[in-house]
Amino acid sequence: MANYQHILVAVDFSKDFEAVLAKAIELQKVSSAKMTLVHVVEYTGAMYTGEIPLPEDLDLDQRLAKQAETKLEAMIKEHLLQNTSFLVEIGTPKREIVRVAEEQQADLIILGSHGRHGLQLLLGSTANGVLHLAQCDVLAIRVESA
Ligand code: AMP
Repeated sequence: MANYQHILVAVDFSKDFEAVLAKAIELQKVSSAKMTLVHVVEYTGAMYTGEIPLPEDLDLDQRLAKQAETKLEAMIKEHLLQNTSFLVEIGTPKREIVRVAEEQQADLIILGSHGRHGLQLLLGSTANGVLHLAQCDVLAIRVESA
């Protein structure tokens, strides 16, 4: 197996995510790679089709991003993750995950085979999108329950 230097883990906080994280931690240990956890807050502005910006909606993405930062920080502490940092982005998950991977020069992206959007599908839409768009290796961890 390739000796990965920088693993990017896409965190969606779904109930099955712990299984994905457990595999990522295992891989990090064998490769001594640096690890970055990334969560993407789905841009809520896209849901609003009116012309007038709603101040509370403009603020919502930022508030969700702050909450995600707190959760990622807690995840790093709880699992005693070493050599691990985190990022929170706002936008479309598959695009942001791939963009961050390129920007951070990650050589492996780890995500779940499905999360919140892939209940009836073999691969969730994010996993599928990342597999198609990414320039680096992608490991989709099979998530059993749906
Ligand atoms: P899904 O496309 O929702 O079925 O998700 C498949 C996998 O993509 C999840 O298990 C996560 O690893 C990742 N993922 C989905 N949504 C996000 C998100 N908003 N931020 C980061 N990773 C995500």
